Amino acid sequence: MIKLNSAELSSLTEKLTRLNMQRANYIISILHGKEMVLGMPHRVYRKCGKKNCKCYTGKRHGPYPALSVNKQGKQKIVMIKKSDRSSVLSGAERYKHYQRTLAKIRKIDKEINNTLVKLKIDTTTNYIPE
Ligand SMILES: [Zn+2]
Repeated sequence: MIKLNSAELSSLTEKLTRLNMQRANYIISILHGKEMVLGMPHRVYRKCGKKNCKCYTGKRHGPYPALSVNKQGKQKIVMIKKSDRSSVLSGAERYKHYQRTLAKIRKIDKEINNTLVKLKIDTTTNYIPE
C-alpha cells in the first residue's frame, strides 16, 4: 500500500522541481570561468607609530585592503599591493561567491536526497506471496 496520496505526490514534485531549478541557477552563477583569488576580502586598520599622530590614541589609518587566507587551519592576513587592488579584490569576491554558492548547492543536494529517500520509503512495499 502506497503511503502517499496524489496531493502529497504533486507537492513533492513541486518541491523537487523548485530545488532543481535553484540548484541549476546556483551552478550557472559560478560557471563564469573568470579568475578567482584564494582568500576572503578583509580590511586592515593600523597605527603608524608616530606619537603625535591621531592614530596614537584615536582613529587608526585605513582601511587597507587585504585578504584573509586560511593556510593549514591558520588564518593569515595578506596585504594587497595598490597596483593589484582591483583585480585581486574582484577575484576574491568571486571566490567568496563561489564558496557560499557551493555551500548552498550542498544544502540543496541534501534536501533533494532526503526527499527522494522519503519518496522511496513511502512508495515501496514488500512483496509477500501468500
Ligand atoms: Zn598615524
